[in-house]
Amino acid sequence: MSAERPAVLALGSNMGDRMATLQGAVDALLGPQAAPGLTPVAVSPVYETAPVGGPEQGAYLNAVLVAACTLAPRELLARTQEVEKRFHRVREVRWGPRTLDVDIIALGEEVSGDPELTLPHPRAHERAFVLRPWLDADPGAVLPGHGPVADLLAAVAGQEADRRGDLHLALPGREG
Ligand code: AMP
Repeated sequence: MSAERPAVLALGSNMGDRMATLQGAVDALLGPQAAPGLTPVAVSPVYETAPVGGPEQGAYLNAVLVAACTLAPRELLARTQEVEKRFHRVREVRWGPRTLDVDIIALGEEVSGDPELTLPHPRAHERAFVLRPWLDADPGAVLPGHGPVADLLAAVAGQEADRRGDLHLALPGREG
């Protein structure tokens, strides 16, 4: 266990019951049944975004989770990949549709070029579907090595991310 630091996780789903998958992932990561090491801090609103590149596929629902994390980077990756597997992520096609994608956007100030876990996430700074919900969840967010998320978001203003005001993810209680 290391000292507590914020973990920022980006969740996306574009197959099946997307909201059920996203809420299931939040619960699996942070709910009462989740393994220790991650404590809920904030969950963003839900955004709908068109897929970037890859084959023709449905729109994504995206959200960002912030948690207080005492896990080492590789432990956190193992946790997120286990949750992806639990939702039967389909990954035959690179960049193709997936029931659940969990990206680790940042873990405190950690900087790593490890291809298994690059931190911060190498494409986070150019993706409105990460930056927009992250800024909602944490208005003071800063992406290590890149600067304030508000500034990064302004630079990708052309990208569309539609806020789905009709959809809400519940953040599990802290007692978990
Ligand atoms: P993708 O299929 O695009 O979700 O990529 C998954 C692969 O990216 C996995 O093999 C991870 O080990 C690797 N990876 C590298 N950096 C990260 C990160 N920051 N978050 C999640 N996966 C990562």
